[in-house]
Amino acid sequence: MKKYRAGKIKREHHVIERVWPVLERMAECELIASIIPGPISPLNARGFEVTFQRFTDTGLRLLAKNGSAVQEVWVVTDAKDAALHWLAGQGLVDWQPEPPPVKKAAIPTGPEPLKTVVLPSDMACEVCGRPMLAGSRAVRLGRKQYTYAHVRCAKE
Ligand SMILES: [Zn+2]
Repeated sequence: MKKYRAGKIKREHHVIERVWPVLERMAECELIASIIPGPISPLNARGFEVTFQRFTDTGLRLLAKNGSAVQEVWVVTDAKDAALHWLAGQGLVDWQPEPPPVKKAAIPTGPEPLKTVVLPSDMACEVCGRPMLAGSRAVRLGRKQYTYAHVRCAKE
């Protein structure tokens, strides 16, 4: 069984460090016919990841990075979508399903509205860098991490 699984993985190229065990687990998927590691390129980056790039005529194109090298991996499958879901579900490939389309009416037109707030404490304006005093009116910027700016600065 182990040998059969390993036979799914083509050995035309060497496989970069840490990627082989991931490919072996991919080969366990019945949806996947074969896995073809591509050429290796040097890379200066941290971390290990295998990401989904795109669908191809024969299956999926993945990109594996192990911190010092990057390598394309082609997965051959007739069930592209199901195989991708399987790989993502197993945690083997970083991939998020497309978010559902947003209704057009829900998309605001024009610039994002700026929220005017009263500053709780002294801070520097995000735009001009000059100080703003607690209790004065300012504009709050950003969605998750808020920054603040003079009302005039934010409108420029
Ligand atoms: Zn300012």
